[in-house]
Amino acid sequence: METDRIPDLSTVREPVSRILVEKAYSFLDSCTVCPRECGINRKEGELGTCRTGVLPKISAYNLHFGEEPPISGTRGSGTVFFASCNLSCDFCQNFPISQMDYGRRVTPEELSRIYLELERRGAHNINLVTPSHIVPPILHSLVLAREAGLKIPIVYNSNGYDSVSMLRLLEGWIDIYLPDMKYSSDLWARRISKADGYVFHNRAAVAEMFRQVGPLHLDEEEIARKGLIIRHLIMPNDLGGWDSSAKFIRTELGESSAISLMAQYFPTNRARSKPLLSRRITEEEYDRALEALFKENLMEGYVQEYDSRWEDTAVPASRTGDSLSEQETRSA
Ligand code: SF4
Repeated sequence: METDRIPDLSTVREPVSRILVEKAYSFLDSCTVCPRECGINRKEGELGTCRTGVLPKISAYNLHFGEEPPISGTRGSGTVFFASCNLSCDFCQNFPISQMDYGRRVTPEELSRIYLELERRGAHNINLVTPSHIVPPILHSLVLAREAGLKIPIVYNSNGYDSVSMLRLLEGWIDIYLPDMKYSSDLWARRISKADGYVFHNRAAVAEMFRQVGPLHLDEEEIARKGLIIRHLIMPNDLGGWDSSAKFIRTELGESSAISLMAQYFPTNRARSKPLLSRRITEEEYDRALEALFKENLMEGYVQEYDSRWEDTAVPASRTGDSLSEQETRSA
């Protein structure tokens, strides 16, 4: 059983920010930090589906150059990989981190120092990967980092299974939202990612993110400063239901929404033994996903190129941890 204590808040200088961080930590009493609403007391060491106490674990942090072009830029994205996850996807390409929880626990103070270090090393932004289950300590770390002079934008890079209540606490602290829209079917979300109500919660979360930051805004050097980029990983057998998500995006958020369409799916983790998940996507499936973009006139964003050699490629059994860092993107 983990026995984290709530970190000392006296180092937060601004009283309004201290109240905000206190409020965020109060969600841990009967945890509703994410849509699972496990209702356990993380301050008392109880663990819910994400197996995480009060403090987050990080598995790595570094400058990354494989994100979407306006996120990686020329100097890299200051990426912090958090361990554990509130989803449990059969096909997770990072499962040693997300499902086996490999990482070390860090305090908000340490996290804020990491952000400042990444900024000193030239990062265009701080990229928080898999933050949905640890929003309270993340918010705490952002407050400390801003008070210590952090200037670069913050990227919230999530699986899209986020709580609107928690997102509202983040308003003004996150500059760029980078959520997934994985599914448009609760049936497949439950079967593949063990998530109830994914579609409702995901769409509500994405709409809230858009309300806060609006469409993607780039600076004169084509680097992202603010806005929303929605990611979708094309899955075999249309299990992600991209047509419906694309329609939602156009009707609810508008045609100027930036999309990142990814084609890199490969069967790993439990997906290798599940017939519908046990292959890469075909070129036909890739083309259909592109057609949905054109049909909804979603022309802003990035599309990962399809490589026909993938269909003949054996999937290395040990390949892990490269879901986003190796993607190749191009402007749509
Ligand atoms: S953050 Fe973790 S403990 Fe809290 S509701 Fe979500 S899965 Fe459960």
